[in-house]
Amino acid sequence: MKKELLLKILKTSSIIFIIIILFFFLLQIKKGNIYFNNKNIVEKNDDYQITINYPVYKDEQFNKKIKDFIKTQKNSFIEKVMELKNKRISHNKTYNLNIKYDVEDNKEIYSIHFIISYYLGGSKYKREDAVFYYDYKNNKELTWNDLFKDEEKTLNVLSKLSKEKLNKLDIRLYSQFDKGIKPIKENFSNILFLEKGIKVIFPPYQVAPWSTGEVDIAISYNELDKTLKEQEEIKIEEKEQTNESEKRLTRNLDELKDKKLIALTFDDGPSKDTTEQLLNGLKERNAKVTFFVLGSEVEKFPDIVKRAYNEGHTIGSHTYNHKNLVNLTNEEIQYEIISTNQLIENTIGNPVRIIRPPYGSINSSILSQTNMSFIFWNVDTEDWKNRNVDITYQNIINNAEDGQIILLHDIYQISVDAALKAIDDLEKQGYAFVSLEELEQLGRIKLDSHIKHYSFKN
Ligand code: ZN
Repeated sequence: MKKELLLKILKTSSIIFIIIILFFFLLQIKKGNIYFNNKNIVEKNDDYQITINYPVYKDEQFNKKIKDFIKTQKNSFIEKVMELKNKRISHNKTYNLNIKYDVEDNKEIYSIHFIISYYLGGSKYKREDAVFYYDYKNNKELTWNDLFKDEEKTLNVLSKLSKEKLNKLDIRLYSQFDKGIKPIKENFSNILFLEKGIKVIFPPYQVAPWSTGEVDIAISYNELDKTLKEQEEIKIEEKEQTNESEKRLTRNLDELKDKKLIALTFDDGPSKDTTEQLLNGLKERNAKVTFFVLGSEVEKFPDIVKRAYNEGHTIGSHTYNHKNLVNLTNEEIQYEIISTNQLIENTIGNPVRIIRPPYGSINSSILSQTNMSFIFWNVDTEDWKNRNVDITYQNIINNAEDGQIILLHDIYQISVDAALKAIDDLEKQGYAFVSLEELEQLGRIKLDSHIKHYSFKN
């Protein structure tokens, strides 16, 4: 009896012991291979304040590299402070330097990301980033070029993917953030390797203002490989693209001879049901029109825009958010215009040349800010106000005349119904419905930069 009890206790305690051992073992694993110790430097005097954190690893050579880097940063900061001091430039805030870091581990490589922020007077804090890579499986430091073998190809792919991803972000970017993602190495030096993909870091001022802060995008390894492969097959792809643009349905303009021409234009779309219905109806009637689309809606329904374009209609911009451009700053105007142009271009594969400012609201400054042609209208069906099929239909019929540009909105069912009905009746009276591109080909309109059009009368 006693012996049994003793055995039981022994058994239980050994199980507990094993569990404890396992626990510590797992804890060790969970901590991973991060053998970094943190070093901290704090210096404060009348002239400046410095706070630096940097990692120390078990590889002496690598440590020396990091230490030298930190030293260079620190010395260059102190040098600049002394220069300013000698110039006796007065300042209210204390000059300061702050270096911090974080480490990403993708189970093979550590990516050590430094953020160097400093203040040297004026109104701006400055920031510089740096990334070091260490292959802890093979115990050696790696460079950017070790990780991305074909520099040129990689940069092109990174630039392409960044553009796509930045366009999808719902944050304020520079309207011309293209400069910050040009395929040059300086733009893509801050890349971290994570388990499933890379993180591309854009420090403030690269693609967005300081107020937006750091902008990060994630690219999975799959995506990266796939796009790199696509890049390799770029010649084949180019061929395919020409095939695709050949797919666009255009008609023989001879069939428009002796016809009275009208340009129907549809704003504020694309919209899921109504635009698709309109496209079906236009196809049946062999009518071409022009769509002034909103960037925000192109993002939601790119397939509809692509379909409209492929079916021979013209796509123009109606800006991103339908704001009154006259009330915006230049930077905001640029954002409204350029982001939408990029979205449309990505969707249809060709640049957009025409724009219709929301509310027809414009001034000379806006006109000069873009190289697009501005298209207004001379017939407003007021579909947005009357919301009535018959009134909208009458407004088209009563104003029908060669050379008219008629304003409608493809986001209302009544507008689609009225337009299709009017097309049926006017075609019988010798009218044809044309897109702005067709009018240009016919020599009836010139879609030149900075030019305003209200109609295309002879
Ligand atoms: Zn509008």
